[in-house]
Amino acid sequence: MTTLGLIDSHTHLQDEIFDDNRKKVIARAREEGVEHIFVCGEDISSSQAAVKLAQTDPRITAMVGFHPHNASEATLGKLDQVKELARNKEVCAIGEIGLDFYRNISPPKIQHDIFESQLSIAAEIGLPVSIHSRNAENELRPHLKNFVQKSQREIHGILHCFSGNLKLALEYYEQGFLISFAGPLTYPKNSELREMASQLPNEALLLETDSPALPPQKYRGKTNEPSYIKLIAEVMAVARNTSLMEIAKITTVNALQFLIQQPNKTEPM
Ligand SMILES: [Zn+2]
Repeated sequence: MTTLGLIDSHTHLQDEIFDDNRKKVIARAREEGVEHIFVCGEDISSSQAAVKLAQTDPRITAMVGFHPHNASEATLGKLDQVKELARNKEVCAIGEIGLDFYRNISPPKIQHDIFESQLSIAAEIGLPVSIHSRNAENELRPHLKNFVQKSQREIHGILHCFSGNLKLALEYYEQGFLISFAGPLTYPKNSELREMASQLPNEALLLETDSPALPPQKYRGKTNEPSYIKLIAEVMAVARNTSLMEIAKITTVNALQFLIQQPNKTEPM
């Protein structure tokens, strides 16, 4: 039994793909040294499911919110539901939210509006955010700048599965966002990503699987799961010329900051 103590800072463990084996998947993660798992929402039903899952296991924490792909569905009433869900004590962040101009599944204008609304919810409740950005690293800037002014947290959020360059990563880190690395860190062609991971300060780093998506190289084409996070940590250790144990320690200390209850958060409804 290993005592790595890793934290998977971004999963979709409520996904129906895990309906037949979720308990086994969680048990395998424990065996590989994963001590805590964050489960993100993408719309109302997945956010509700994330909260429900977190209520069954103290080592699982939920995030709630509308993914940019689903921004078109986010009516005012549904945003109110996000806010209500966010007050549950099992919720550590609003996420995953953001901008995706690669697939543009929701129109860009709506993505901007819904992202901003959800940042406001996070600021109001005193939660950090978990951000998805694809082909939108520069467009994030005004939103994040605005959020930093209002955020009640010391660490304002996570840039999940970040794919921008080192300069941007450092800029966002200096503003109070952590940079999270997922399976793509292990893909042979992504030497630039490994280079970026090697240059960021310890305090900026997080690990995630984004399971069931983005499996590490060894499991490409298969369903990703939190137990595979060790493979990502190993690649990061090589990139940073340090030990797996050290990477586990650094990233876990950073991720734990999202489990501190914010002072003014109200009791669950
Ligand atoms: Zn995700």
